[in-house]
Amino acid sequence: MKIAILPGDGIGTEIVAEAVKVLQVLDLSFEMETAPVGGAAYEAAGHPLPEATLRLAMDSDAVLFGAVGDWKYDKLERALRPEQAILGLRKHMGLFANFRPAICYEQLTHASSLKPELVAGLDILIIRELTGDIYFGQPRGRRTAVDGHFPGAEEAFDTMRYSRPEIERIAHVAFQAARKRGKKVTSVDKANVLETFQFWKDVVTEVHKEYPDVELEHMYVDNAAMQLVKAPKKFDVLFTGNMFGDILSDEAAMLTGSIGMLPSASLNAKGQGLYEPSHGSAPDIAGQGVANPLATILSAAMMLRFSLNQPEAADRIESAVKAVLSAGLRTADIWSEGTIKVGTREMGDAVVAAITGKTITKS
Ligand code: NAD
Repeated sequence: MKIAILPGDGIGTEIVAEAVKVLQVLDLSFEMETAPVGGAAYEAAGHPLPEATLRLAMDSDAVLFGAVGDWKYDKLERALRPEQAILGLRKHMGLFANFRPAICYEQLTHASSLKPELVAGLDILIIRELTGDIYFGQPRGRRTAVDGHFPGAEEAFDTMRYSRPEIERIAHVAFQAARKRGKKVTSVDKANVLETFQFWKDVVTEVHKEYPDVELEHMYVDNAAMQLVKAPKKFDVLFTGNMFGDILSDEAAMLTGSIGMLPSASLNAKGQGLYEPSHGSAPDIAGQGVANPLATILSAAMMLRFSLNQPEAADRIESAVKAVLSAGLRTADIWSEGTIKVGTREMGDAVVAAITGKTITKS
């Protein structure tokens, strides 16, 4: 088994170091190789996704990714900006299925923006299609309008489109994931207004015939946005297209309290995956040793489960994270009165200690 380690920028290097430390105490044999990505790669090799980094990622069973980006790169031409590295990896590796669990740990219910009783025990899996939709549809651009409300005016346009195979493959992923959980899929669309999403709904309904043991409900995206803050525990697997998934997964992130707790996985048809925290490179706190490494550590657990076929090792990491939270250890983003504030490295050390059976204390 080979893992490509791509720490990236900002807090990326700090949080990935902790996840690597955790992987190293599991007594599993895998090779790990590190390469630069994002702004760090631009500085080192003139491109956010150098050929050698891409080759390493493609040749590995899984990629553990930190985060990329810094405001200082905002003036670079789009193709050279750090964020292009993620888009390039998604494209070249064919990562079409994005998994984002939104889990509210019992110990952190107070950190949610919702009332504790609405989020206690929350465990939703958001599955977002990642390579299609209006984000990638062609044609797109700027032109002079020939019709519409203001003919002759400058206008911009994008194209929303999904093909049948694109919808079918992500629908299979969603139904199969639901089978391993609460056996319920909510397919989120805007079929009342958009042709693309009426087609989405029709294809999902057809694919569902192969999964009679899984319940399927359809929900309009505006209602889904409301239900997520009204009664989020109603959802099991929430499954949708690229743009709606982008927005709803961030909304769901807030239900859990801190973005520093949320892992994510992006998988291709071969089970190869890119695993990363849901947050960015947090340049505002980079280098201070205060970032929460748990989202990255939990991403490593997802990697063991989904790409490396090591579910028991994944369970060990997840149990260790719960033990650390139960012991009252908190990084600044999830700290509250009565708990113990620790830094990035101390949090990583505590997870290692919980895995290896040592006492968890503030070092
Ligand atoms: P961000 O997620 O980096 O930070 C948002 C806020 O959350 C900040 O206040 C930050 O300090 C805090 N935060 C994030 N992760 C944290 C953690 N692990 N522990 C504690 N606090 C944490 O989003 P942003 O500020 O909008 O973007 C910063 C940079 O990251 C930009 O360059 C952006 O393009 C990039 N970005 C990268 C990714 C990625 O690599 N996948 C995703 C989103 C944003």
